[in-house]
Amino acid sequence: MEKNTENNVEEKEDNGYEDICYLCHRTESAAGKMVHMPNNICVCSDCMQRTLDTMGNGNFDYENMMKNIPNISFFNMSDLMNFGGKVDNPKARKVKKKKPEEKTKPIIDIKDIPAPHKIKASLDEYVVGQEHAKKVISVAVYNHYKRVATDTVDDIEIEKSNMLMIGPTGSGKTFLVKTLAKLLDVPLAITDATSLTEAGYIGDDIESVVSKLLAAAGNDVEKAEQGIIFIDEIDKIAKKKNTNQRDVSGEAVQQGMLKLLEGSEVEVPIGANSKNAMVPMTTVNTKNILFICGGAFPDLENIIKERLNKSASIGFQSDLKDKYDNDPNLLSKVTVEDIRKFGMIPEFLGRLPIVYTLDALSKDMLVKVLKEPKNAILKQYQKLLALDEVKLEFEDEALEAIAEQALEKKTGARALRAIIEDFMLDIMYEIPKDDNIGTVTITRDYIEKKGAPKIENRSNQKKKEMIVS
Ligand code: ADP
Repeated sequence: MEKNTENNVEEKEDNGYEDICYLCHRTESAAGKMVHMPNNICVCSDCMQRTLDTMGNGNFDYENMMKNIPNISFFNMSDLMNFGGKVDNPKARKVKKKKPEEKTKPIIDIKDIPAPHKIKASLDEYVVGQEHAKKVISVAVYNHYKRVATDTVDDIEIEKSNMLMIGPTGSGKTFLVKTLAKLLDVPLAITDATSLTEAGYIGDDIESVVSKLLAAAGNDVEKAEQGIIFIDEIDKIAKKKNTNQRDVSGEAVQQGMLKLLEGSEVEVPIGANSKNAMVPMTTVNTKNILFICGGAFPDLENIIKERLNKSASIGFQSDLKDKYDNDPNLLSKVTVEDIRKFGMIPEFLGRLPIVYTLDALSKDMLVKVLKEPKNAILKQYQKLLALDEVKLEFEDEALEAIAEQALEKKTGARALRAIIEDFMLDIMYEIPKDDNIGTVTITRDYIEKKGAPKIENRSNQKKKEMIVS
């Protein structure tokens, strides 16, 4: 009795620590109120109930039961006894509570959504090029959240603005969505369509994308219901051609996603990504969740070319057969029919009414990606070196050399980071050795491994070359 009051007192004065259940290891914030036992041991009410239920069955054979039911812990009094004594620090079975995250004001308020041109202007600060995609996405998001805010129940129901984004690897598909979610301060879940299978097969259930979103929203259902789900590599769930087997990871997944895309009530587990008897469930309505699907759709260009060539070769205005062979904007001529031919089912495409393409990044765009966005990679390194009071500069020629090397790798802007990290390693290693260094200038020769960067000393600002092995 006395102990109990002692514990209660400790609990009342919030010391920033929270208890952990001795059995399931969940924290108090996850598992709810704990029952306090001697020796600073706590058990959550779920585990306590389960233990009492099992004991209540009468023929309680602990050893045998543990053998038969894997992965489930039961409360064993003798463990507690052994455990006693060793604990003299009352905080030994507690974890420090996380500091509550500071609430930041979103740049774009979804309740009072700004005009599309303002959304695009915010995107411009981060995303280079892709003018058309940014314009389409801004209008779609504007309409979507206006629809969410008004939540009309009259006969004119505004259609959902789910999108399909087509663009080569490293052209900024994921980046665009991530930036958008950050600007709007809405939860975002990113999933790979390759991991999804029809329910009941090995892989993630389609509904797992919603439970990911719920987790991203901190288990706040209301917040999750206004979030964004980005499904990458959507081209990988195209209908398999010439197959006699059940297509569990292709057409069946597309079928399974129809309801989600349209808006339905989904039962999802809280704090886990698979349903089982132990996990509490909640219902999430996907009606206002914005779905964005993205994919590279390789070979789609051939389908488009075939269609264009066919229509061009008919009639009097027949064109040369290879007219579209080197057309860099071929992808932007895509139609829903082409995507259907690629293997997406019409019902699926019908639920993604907004289709747009992203351009492959050119050399100029890659140079801009390096230096212009708000959190551009070069700015990050400059800031890092500025902490050591060293100025980092890049000659324009050097930036072009980096872009040229990235182009060769054919992975878009993704290649940039790897190239920069490679040559910055030596700089980051050598510079802190010498306190006199004031400015480092990266040259084309250095990028091409033919020379060294230019170094200027802090004291006399005399130029000297540093030999970096
Ligand atoms: P993918 O199209 O394959 O999804 P990502 O969006 O993952 O490509 O791009 C990889 C990285 O390249 C991003 O994290 C981002 O830093 C950079 N990036 C790509 N495209 C752009 C762009 N248009 N503007 C600015 N950065 C970009």
